[in-house]
Amino acid sequence: MLYNVYVSAQPMLFDLEPLVAVPRSVGQALVTKRRVSQILTKATGMLKSLDFTLNPYVGCSFACSYCYAAFFQPDEVKVRDWGYWVEVKENALELLRRESRLAGSHVMVGSVTDPYQPLERTTGLTRSLMEYMASVRPQPRIRIQTRSPIVVRDIDVLLRFEKLTVGMSVTTDDDATRKRYEPSCASIEQRLKAVRALADAGVRVTLSLAPLLPITDIARLAEMIRESGAERFWTGYFHPGTRKFAAGTRENALVLAKEDGWNLEAYIETVTRLKKLVPELVSRDFE
Ligand code: SF4
Repeated sequence: MLYNVYVSAQPMLFDLEPLVAVPRSVGQALVTKRRVSQILTKATGMLKSLDFTLNPYVGCSFACSYCYAAFFQPDEVKVRDWGYWVEVKENALELLRRESRLAGSHVMVGSVTDPYQPLERTTGLTRSLMEYMASVRPQPRIRIQTRSPIVVRDIDVLLRFEKLTVGMSVTTDDDATRKRYEPSCASIEQRLKAVRALADAGVRVTLSLAPLLPITDIARLAEMIRESGAERFWTGYFHPGTRKFAAGTRENALVLAKEDGWNLEAYIETVTRLKKLVPELVSRDFE
């Protein structure tokens, strides 16, 4: 069964309208339901300081050109079409309720999907998982990673957690650049407004300038960071290279980066200048 990803409605679990045509354009994705065997995945690699990752969806309609999450898919067609399909884990809440390892653990929500991608407005799936986790004792410690202002909808739930941080990705200071690399994502202004709303409500926010894309005005970016309301800031270059990064959506970003003269040296030079203005900025690549 296929569904339209952009049904605008109040949160309502799985009340999706069937879609006949197969969309393959910016901002649209095929949505299907899927039953999974587990909802918490042991955190490894760069996330090994956490206990688990939790991804309410498989796939992501944000379709960022540089997204490495695509390569976790075993199916080559899904890697190729990354960004144009999403699977809703329909039994996610049922599995989470049965999960004995959740209490007191450290969980990242959204390691290989955006938990607040547009579909979340309709399904409310991430919200339902967050509501349940807020009720667990001892409470899990939560890190959410998103680039979507829709997270603001759940401020009331986020405030129920004793330890929770929202990581908001803002990858450039220039919306023209943002549109080239992340055409389906919210504007920089909308994301910064979301950061401000979260911070003003008392939710801890980390600004993730990763992967950092070409910057037009470093002083403007520094000001943006400082005035955002976020408590912490970190940056990183494109995901460390592996054999897999030579193909698929990742290649799209590399083509754009080549056109822009954006490489590791340019990144290091930019971050070095940026750190003079924002010394608290942490870079994972060269310190
Ligand atoms: S929002 Fe995250 S998971 Fe979704 S396409 Fe972009 S980088 Fe990938």
